[in-house]
Amino acid sequence: MQAVRHWAARNAGLMQRLYRALEPLLRMLGPVARMIGAQRLERPLALIERATKGFLFDCRMCGQCALSTTGMACPMNCPKRIRNGPCGGVRADGSCETDPAMRCVWVEGWQGRQRMRGAVPPAPNPELDHRLESTSSWLRVALGAPKARAPVHSPGASAAPVASDLQALLASGEFAVTAEIAPPDTADPAEVSRQLEAFRGSVDALNVTDASGANCHMSSLAMSALLLQAGCEPVMQITCRDRNRIAIQGDILGAAALGVRNVLCLTGDDVRNGDHPGARFVGDLDAVTLVAAARSMRDEGRFLSGRKILSPPQLFLGAADNPSAPPLQARLERLARKVAAGAQFVQTQYCFDLELMQRYMREVRAQDLHRRCHILVGVGPIASARAARWLRARVPGVMIPDRVIARLERALDPCAEGRRICAEMIEGLRQIEGVAGVHIMAAKQEEAVAEIVAASAALGQRAPLFHCATPKPLNPPSASECNTCP
Ligand code: SF4
Repeated sequence: MQAVRHWAARNAGLMQRLYRALEPLLRMLGPVARMIGAQRLERPLALIERATKGFLFDCRMCGQCALSTTGMACPMNCPKRIRNGPCGGVRADGSCETDPAMRCVWVEGWQGRQRMRGAVPPAPNPELDHRLESTSSWLRVALGAPKARAPVHSPGASAAPVASDLQALLASGEFAVTAEIAPPDTADPAEVSRQLEAFRGSVDALNVTDASGANCHMSSLAMSALLLQAGCEPVMQITCRDRNRIAIQGDILGAAALGVRNVLCLTGDDVRNGDHPGARFVGDLDAVTLVAAARSMRDEGRFLSGRKILSPPQLFLGAADNPSAPPLQARLERLARKVAAGAQFVQTQYCFDLELMQRYMREVRAQDLHRRCHILVGVGPIASARAARWLRARVPGVMIPDRVIARLERALDPCAEGRRICAEMIEGLRQIEGVAGVHIMAAKQEEAVAEIVAASAALGQRAPLFHCATPKPLNPPSASECNTCP
C-alpha cells in the first residue's frame, strides 16, 4: 500500500487532474443524491471511496479530505495526525521522527505539491471534526456542503494589545533572552524556587516545558503559577499530545486567570520515546490549530465551539519552529501558517549552524515574517562530544554539524568549550537582521546560563526582566536603576 501511496505523491500532478475532472461529475450527481437521500447513499459511497482512496493514497477516511492541498499525501498517515505539518522532528534524510522507516508524510506532500499546477502554500487547515470520520467526503462535495470552518488569518505580532512584559520588551526592539526550565518530579514548591535561582538576573522569561520528551513531570500550568509567585514571567508550553481541545482550552483559560500571559503552542513529542510509551498520543489539535484556538479565545472571546467566553484571556501567543529540519521551504511554509493562525513569537529548536540560520532568516525576511512575529533562536551549551552525538542521534530535529563535535572533541575542557560555542552563537545571531532574541536550553547545565548570557553580552546594557524578587514593572529598569541584580 505504501508503494502506491508514494507513487501517487510522486505523480501528484496527474492525480490533481483526475481530481479536478471528478469534482464537476460529483456536483452533477448532487440533485440525484438529494432525490435518493444522503443517508441511503452514505454507506455505499463511503465503501467505494474507502476502497479507491485507500488503494491510491492509503487514505484513512477522516471525512474532511485535504488531499488537494497536501500534495496528494494523506495527512492522516502522519503518526501524530498533524493537519498542518511537517513537525519539527523530520530527520535529516526526510524520514519521520516517530517512524524512521517511513518518509515524513508532510515532506512527501510538500514535494507532491511542487508537481501540482497552480498549487499555492495552503492556508491553515482547521481542526478535525471527528464526527465525520469514516464518512464520504465525495458525498459532501456532491451535495455542495460547505467546507470546514474557514481559516482565520491573524494580522500578526503587533496587532494584539500588549499582554505581557516579554511582549512589551520585544515590541520595544530589545534583544530578548529566554531560557528553559524543566518542571521537577515533586509536589514540593520549594524545589521550584531552588531551580529558579539559577536564572535570576540573567533572563527575561522562562519557558516551562510541558512533559518534555513525553516524560511525566509537574504540570506546566502549576509550575508557571509558581514562577509568577516568585516574580518571574513564565512562557507556559502547552502540547496537543496529552489533552483534547476541551481540556486545552480550559487550561488556557485557567492559566490566564492565574496571570500567565505567554503561551507557547506545540504539537508535542512522540509518546513512544517517553517514560509512558504505552500512552496514547491524543493529537486532537496540532500546533497550528492550537494557536488558532487560543487566538480565537483571545480576539473573538469564543471557544472553538463558538460559545462565548465571559472575560477573554489576555495572551501573547507563541509557536516553535525548527530551521534545521528539511526541506527549508516546507519549514517556512509551516512558519507562515503558524503566523497566519496567530503566532506572535516563535522559538526555534537548537541552532548550532550560523550559516543555516542566516539562510533561514534571509527567507523569513523575504516573506516579511520577522515583522509579523518575533523570532527567538534556540541555543544551548553541550557538555561533551559524546553528549553532542547523543543529542544528534536521539533528540528528533536536532542537527549538530560535525565541525562543532570536532571542536568539542579537541577541547581540553569540553564543558567550557560548549559554553563558549553557545556564547559565540549568540553573538553571531545578534548580527542577523530579524532575530529578536535567543532561547537558551541548558538541560542539566542551568548554572551555565548566567555565564553564557554574560559572555555573549546578550542583554547589552539593560537588566533582564527577571532581576529581583519584587514584582516587575511593565518597562524594565536599566541595569543602573536595579539595586538587587549583581
Ligand atoms: S516527521 Fe512529524 S509530521 Fe512528518 S510524518 Fe512524522 S510525525 Fe508526522
